[in-house]
Amino acid sequence: MNKQNPIEALAHLHHEFGEHGGVNMCIEASSTFTFLDPATMPAMFQGKAGPDNGGCYLYGRHFNPTVYNLARQLAALEGTESAYCTASGMGAISAVVLAKCGAGDHVVASNTVYGGTYALLHDFMPAKTGVTTTFVDITDLEAVRNAITDRTQLIFAESVANPTLRVADIPRLAGIARQAGVPLVVDNTFSPLIMSPARLGADIVVHSITKFISGASDLIGGAICGPEAFIQELMDLHTGPLMLLGPTMDPNIASTISLRIPHLPLRMAAHSERALALAQRMQAAGVIVGYPGLPAHPDHALFDELRCPDYGYGGIVTVDMETQERAEALMARLQNEYRFGFMAVSLGYFDTLMSCSAQSTSSEMTEEDKATAGVSPGLVRMAVGYTGTLEQRWRQLEAALDDVGALGASRLARVG
Ligand code: PLP
Repeated sequence: MNKQNPIEALAHLHHEFGEHGGVNMCIEASSTFTFLDPATMPAMFQGKAGPDNGGCYLYGRHFNPTVYNLARQLAALEGTESAYCTASGMGAISAVVLAKCGAGDHVVASNTVYGGTYALLHDFMPAKTGVTTTFVDITDLEAVRNAITDRTQLIFAESVANPTLRVADIPRLAGIARQAGVPLVVDNTFSPLIMSPARLGADIVVHSITKFISGASDLIGGAICGPEAFIQELMDLHTGPLMLLGPTMDPNIASTISLRIPHLPLRMAAHSERALALAQRMQAAGVIVGYPGLPAHPDHALFDELRCPDYGYGGIVTVDMETQERAEALMARLQNEYRFGFMAVSLGYFDTLMSCSAQSTSSEMTEEDKATAGVSPGLVRMAVGYTGTLEQRWRQLEAALDDVGALGASRLARVG
C-alpha cells in the first residue's frame, strides 16, 4: 500500500506522451497486438510475462495501453499497487465478488449499499452461484464481527453509504477483516480523494467511475484497485473473472477519463463546498437534512477522523421529505419551476441531480430492508453540482422548499 498523498502520487506518476510527442497519450486503437518473438506468446498465456516484465500487450480484453494508463492513475489515487478499469462500476464489483467467492461461500455486507450491489448480493449471487450475503449495520462493529462465518470470503462496505451517507469505520473494519483472514472491499464511489480506503487499511477499493471521477455524466466506467497479485488473479487468461466475463473498458473512454483526473481534486472541493453551504442553510431553515459535514450527522466525528482535510465532506446531501408525494413535489418544483437541478439518478455531475432513492436507486431493496437501513420513502438524494452562484442556488432551493412546506423553523420564525 502506498501511504503517499494521492495528489503527490498522481504528480509523481510516469507521464505517457503521445506517439508524436503530444502532451497527451494517444488512444491505442488496436484490439490485438503484434508479438515480435514467437516465444513470448506462450509465456504471456502462461502468465509468465506481461507488458511490464518481458512480455508485451496481447489482446484488448486483457490489456490495452490506454486503459492501463488510466489504471495506473487510479492505483496512484487510491494508493494501491495496481488497478484495473472496467466497463462499469457493477462490472468491477461483480468481478471482485466472483474472484473471491465460490459456490457456498459467504459475504458480509453493509445494509446500506447501492441498490445494484444489494440486488447482486441479495438476489443474483445466491440464485446463480450459491454465494450468500448477510447484511449488517456497518456502523455496528459487533454485528459485523458476529456475521462472519467460516465460509465468509469478504467484507463489503461503501466508504460513504448510498443513500444514507453513513460512514464506514474503515480502520476498525479492516482490523476485523484481518482477524478473520478475509479482505475488506470498499466502494469509494461517493468520496474519491476525500477518503482513501486503502490508506486506511482496506484491501480492495472499487469505484463507479461513472460518477465523480467522470464528472460529466457522459459515460460509464469502473475500477478495481488492489494488490498486484489480486489484479493479476482477476486478469488471469484462463481463470480470471475479468477475462472470462469481459467487462473491459473501452480505450476511448479511458483516454477521456484520464484527461479529467488532473482536475478531480478541484471538482471534489467545489462539490463539497457547495454541498456544505446548502446543507448548513437548509438545517438553519428547519429542513430535515442529512450531510456528514454537519455536526448533527451521526458519523460527523468519524468522518473527520478518516477524511483528507482538503476536499470537504462530499457532494451528496439528503433531504427527508417523509413521503414520496412531498419528495416528488419538491423535485418537480426544483427542476421545472426554479431550474435548480435535474431529476435524474447518478451523481458527480457539474449540475445538481436529484432522485428519490426508495423509488429509484434503492428500489431493489425490500421494504423491510429499506426501513432497517433508514431509506425513508421521502428521502431525496441531492448530488450537488457547482454551477451557478451559491446565492442563486440557495434562492432557488429555498423557494421550492417553501412552496412544499418544508421550511420548518425559519418559516415559523418569519410568520411569528
Ligand atoms: N457503487 C455505487 C455507490 C453507486 O452509486 C453505483 C451506481 O449508482 C455503482 C456502484 C454502480 O456503478 P455503475 O453504474 O458505473 O455500474
